[in-house]
Amino acid sequence: MSNCLFCKIRDGQIPAKVIYQDETCLAFEDINPQAPTHVLFIPRKHIPTVNDLTAEDEATVGHLFTAAAKVARERAHDENGYRVVMNTNAHAGQTVFHIHLHLLAGRHLTWPPG
Ligand code: AMP
Ligand code: ZN
Repeated sequence: MSNCLFCKIRDGQIPAKVIYQDETCLAFEDINPQAPTHVLFIPRKHIPTVNDLTAEDEATVGHLFTAAAKVARERAHDENGYRVVMNTNAHAGQTVFHIHLHLLAGRHLTWPPG
C-alpha cells in the first residue's frame, strides 16, 4: 500500500524507533505512548483491519503475539503483566489501517477500557 503510514515505516520512508524486527514483523515505539512501554507490532504484510484477516494470516498474527511477549519479557513486564490489543474500525478508535498489536505495560491498566 503506497499511502500507508506503517508501510512507510516498514520501508524506512518515515522514521520510527524500531526496537525489533524479523522476516514477519516489525516493532517500534508508539509516537504518543499511553504507558511507560507502548510498542506497536506490525506485520510486514499490509493488512488493513482484523476484518481482512484470512486463514493464511493466522501464523503471522500469532507471530505478533510471540514477538510482543518476547519484548514484554525483555523489559521485565511478564510477571506484573501487560496488555496486547488490536483496535478495529471506528468504535475501537482505529486510526492507522495497517493492523498493529499494541503492547502496553509499566503501569496498572484499568478495565474496562474507555
Ligand atoms: P490505533 O488507534 O489502534 O489505530 O493506533 C494507532 C497508533 O499509532 C496510535 O497509538 C498512534 O499514537 C500511533 N502512531 C501514529 N503515527 C505514528 C508514527 N509515525 N510512529 C509511531 N506511532 C504512531
Ligand atoms: Zn500498510
